[in-house]
Amino acid sequence: MIINCPFCNVDDEARILAQGKKVFAILSNPRLLPGHTLVIPKRHVEKIGELTKAERAELFDTAVKFQKKIISRFASGCDMRQNYRPFLSQDGVKVDHVHIHLLPREPNDILKEVLKHEKKMWSSLVPSERKKFTEILKKK
Ligand SMILES: [Zn+2]
Repeated sequence: MIINCPFCNVDDEARILAQGKKVFAILSNPRLLPGHTLVIPKRHVEKIGELTKAERAELFDTAVKFQKKIISRFASGCDMRQNYRPFLSQDGVKVDHVHIHLLPREPNDILKEVLKHEKKMWSSLVPSERKKFTEILKKK
C-alpha cells in the first residue's frame, strides 16, 4: 500500500462497484464520461507486467464483465484502455497504480473530438515506415 495513492486509499467506499479476490472495480468521474469505470488490482504496482498471472487474469476478466454490463445496460459502445506514462507526475488525472479504464462511448460523445486522430491510426504503410518497429517488436 502506498500512502499517497488514491487507489490504495479509496476514500469513498460507495463508489466501489465490485470487490474481487485480487481486483476491485470503482466508478470514476461520471460528470466527464457517464459510467466511466476503473478496474484496479488491490496490490499497488505501476506496470501491468508486474502483476502475477492470477492478478492479470482477474483484472481482465473483471474488465470484460463490466464492459458487458456497460454495453448491455446504458452505452452504445465501450473502450477499454490501460495507460502507462511514467513521464507524467501523479496528479488528479494520472495515478501511478495500474488500472484499466472502461470508457462508455456514444457516436457523438466528448471523446469523439479528442480522439479524432484515431481515424488515421490504421492505414497502409510503406516499407520504411513499417521496418523499424516490426524489427524491434518481433525480436524475442
Ligand atoms: Zn496504489
